[in-house]
Amino acid sequence: MLAATLAPSATLAETAPAQVLAAVARICAADLAPAARAIDEGAYPADILRKLAGVGAFGLHARADGALTDAIEAMSVVSQTCVATGFMAWCQNTLAWYLMMSDNAALRARLLPKVVAGDVLGGTGLSNPMKAFFGIETLKLRGTRVAGGYKVKGLLPWVSNLGPDHYFGAVFALEGREGNPVMALIDCADPAVTLKPCEPFLAMDGTGTYAVQVRDLFIPDDLVLAHEAMPLVKKMRAGFILLQAGMAFGLMRDCLALMGEVEGQLGHVNRYLPMQPGDLAGEIKALEAEVMELCATPEDPSTGYFRRVVAARLAAGDACVAAANAAMLHCGARGYVAAHRCQRRLRESYFVAIVTPATKQLRLMLDQLPA
Ligand SMILES: Cc1cc2nc3c(=O)[nH]c(=O)nc-3n(C[C@H](O)[C@H](O)[C@H](O)COP(=O)(O)OP(=O)(O)OC[C@H]3O[C@@H](n4cnc5c(N)ncnc54)[C@H](O)[C@@H]3O)c2cc1C
Repeated sequence: MLAATLAPSATLAETAPAQVLAAVARICAADLAPAARAIDEGAYPADILRKLAGVGAFGLHARADGALTDAIEAMSVVSQTCVATGFMAWCQNTLAWYLMMSDNAALRARLLPKVVAGDVLGGTGLSNPMKAFFGIETLKLRGTRVAGGYKVKGLLPWVSNLGPDHYFGAVFALEGREGNPVMALIDCADPAVTLKPCEPFLAMDGTGTYAVQVRDLFIPDDLVLAHEAMPLVKKMRAGFILLQAGMAFGLMRDCLALMGEVEGQLGHVNRYLPMQPGDLAGEIKALEAEVMELCATPEDPSTGYFRRVVAARLAAGDACVAAANAAMLHCGARGYVAAHRCQRRLRESYFVAIVTPATKQLRLMLDQLPA
């Protein structure tokens, strides 16, 4: 059970996690599967996200009996159909995670129930800070202390699951206090915040991803998650990373299904390919076992634990790309047809490997963290 959880609503308290997962699977079959192509082509599925929220999909880690493993399982069910939507589920779950981990009890009480219920949608702009903490780049948002809050400016190149009334978590450097940044929520409805559409991507165009320009935005103290970000970042970083496993497990399970779908017709020749369904099934099982074990202690401050989290995340990104590549080779020309989901899975798999922490950053982290 996690430190700061949501006082469960009557509905959530009555619904067992297994029932929530069954409801998520029903929404995926009835609503998400038919919409997956449109989402891939750029449609932002706000209605589906709210439907998922309505059955409790974004509160599984925030309940009194909550566990990261349930939240990961729900995201894997979503990602098995569509990784773009699985990523938006991660954005929403991570926004909730920041609120759960923050010491700002008033902010948590005000916003966490709304995030869990899908009344407030949003995400996280922490790619840049996560890179900055490992010396890869400098913080792109900068603030100064003013009465009752901070004045912040800067540009983040990509933040997902956004819209005009959404919120996202951000970290900004504080003038005169270098190395000791602030973590807060940014309200996209504020006139000082501009969402700029991005160039089309290889995949993930339906994820509500924008470049966010912030011009002298006043962030009041009541939107501050931590006046000193680093202790909060250390507390929440393992959960931030582990929750991404939902995308990987869902995608890999569908790659396994794709291999199975062509086995009858093509198995006699596909058996010469290097990765066989049994190999992939074994990889999924081993990764799931490692992630589920790590999820038991997300607030473990030890370096040894964090190294295992980083190694598991690296393995998940590598395994996704390998699984989607194998599924493509098994499906052959069928999978090469633009309408076939196999080629979408291949494009989506690269996102798992490049979203922060990206493969190269994970390798850098393993190099820098003491063994
Ligand atoms: C579809 C999509 C959704 C994303 N959603 C989020 C999100 O919700 N929150 C979040 O914090 N991050 C988000 N990101 C960023 C993502 O997490 C990674 O940071 C990004 O993919 C680059 O990571 P990298 O470590 O490979 O860095 P690299 O690509 O090696 O380097 C990143 C740096 O290069 C520069 N750069 C490179 N290309 C461009 C470009 N086209 N425009 C502007 N600058 C550029 C920028 O300075 C940037 O900081 C998203 C990225 C994509 C593609």
